[in-house]
Amino acid sequence: MQNFSFVRASSAEQAVRLATAAHTAQQGAEVRFIAGGTTLTDLMKLGVEHPLQVIDINRLPLAQVSDTADGGLRIGALVRNSDLAWHPRVQQAYPVLSQALLSGASAQLRNMATTGGNLLQRTRCMYFRDNLSACNKREPGSGCAAIGGANRNLAILGTSEHCIASNPSDMNVALTTLDAQVQIQGRAGERSVPIADFFLVPGNTPHIENVLQPGDLITAVTLPPPVAGARSAYLKLRDRASYEFALASAAVLLRLENGRVAEARVALGGVGSKPWRATAAEQAVLGQPASSATWQLAAEAALRDARPQSENGFKVELAKRCVAQCLATVAHTAQTA
Ligand SMILES: Cc1cc2nc3c(=O)[nH]c(=O)nc-3n(C[C@H](O)[C@H](O)[C@H](O)COP(=O)(O)OP(=O)(O)OC[C@H]3O[C@@H](n4cnc5c(N)ncnc54)[C@H](O)[C@@H]3O)c2cc1C
Ligand code: SF4
Repeated sequence: MQNFSFVRASSAEQAVRLATAAHTAQQGAEVRFIAGGTTLTDLMKLGVEHPLQVIDINRLPLAQVSDTADGGLRIGALVRNSDLAWHPRVQQAYPVLSQALLSGASAQLRNMATTGGNLLQRTRCMYFRDNLSACNKREPGSGCAAIGGANRNLAILGTSEHCIASNPSDMNVALTTLDAQVQIQGRAGERSVPIADFFLVPGNTPHIENVLQPGDLITAVTLPPPVAGARSAYLKLRDRASYEFALASAAVLLRLENGRVAEARVALGGVGSKPWRATAAEQAVLGQPASSATWQLAAEAALRDARPQSENGFKVELAKRCVAQCLATVAHTAQTA
């Protein structure tokens, strides 16, 4: 591991100031905040990330979950994944988020992992994590060993000829369905970015994964008030039942009126270069009866633009089944409530 300097920040303002100053002084060299450390230390040990400055943000007062004035929820960036998953308000009003968090990693990891760190976790593409392979995300312009290589667990939606990596987070998929906002503190003050605009597709710059600028600190994620009368759920399909990333997952929110779909939100995980909002699926089911034919319509629409690679064609059918099954489960809950 490369040497780096380490400092603890005592306020959000100081963290941003330290990060900005280090970035400028070191002529654009990497500066990283450390929260739970479950992604960052891994990647530093592998030599994939090599920040010259690491700023510990664990002493910042960002570990609270609180109600917002409009009836929504504010989740501090340092709230641990376990605490968030078991928070009574999350379990009651945003079950899709609780289920997504509990499906991720292991209990020990969830106890360390934070909301901000989970948002920014990096891809599990094996070539990205292996310094000897060509990887445009790790080293821009070096190529992409995954195209035509081992790509079984990589993306089929939102990819480019430069990168086919998938976003591995479960939490991000639920936050996408919930229309979360990411709260950011930066050099120019605070701003709020809808999660749909926060992550970027790879295009020809796969190393730029989100809209954060040097020095930006995520302070919180906010959720709008729960949708009255809606039900939600998360379904994750993977090679083994626990401690495994999604091959395909779906986060669904559904509101039925008189047996028909009045509102639907669908996001996919494991198959997109970013947490994938399936708006075509949502539109396809609006006003339709709650039936398996309708859920199949949604599944087909969600995967219409899929571009499978040499080893992950199976994900198209897997993701369709995941969407249809998750919608059917949520509809059943809504009808029997
Ligand atoms: C073995 C293993 C299995 C896993 N399985 C799953 C799984 O099934 N599903 C899943 O979703 N995840 C899984 N994960 C990933 C895990 O959820 C993430 O590692 C974790 O959420 C990262 O959070 P952290 O607080 O530890 O982040 P850190 O490692 O501290 O930080 C990660 C990145 O975020 C940046 N960062 C952190 N906080 C902030 C902030 N507030 N503002 C700006 N930047 C910030 C850091 O600089 C760093 O770049 C797994 C991880 C491991 C090691
Ligand atoms: S898919 Fe993306 S992360 Fe994986 S090797 Fe290609 S460029 Fe790198």
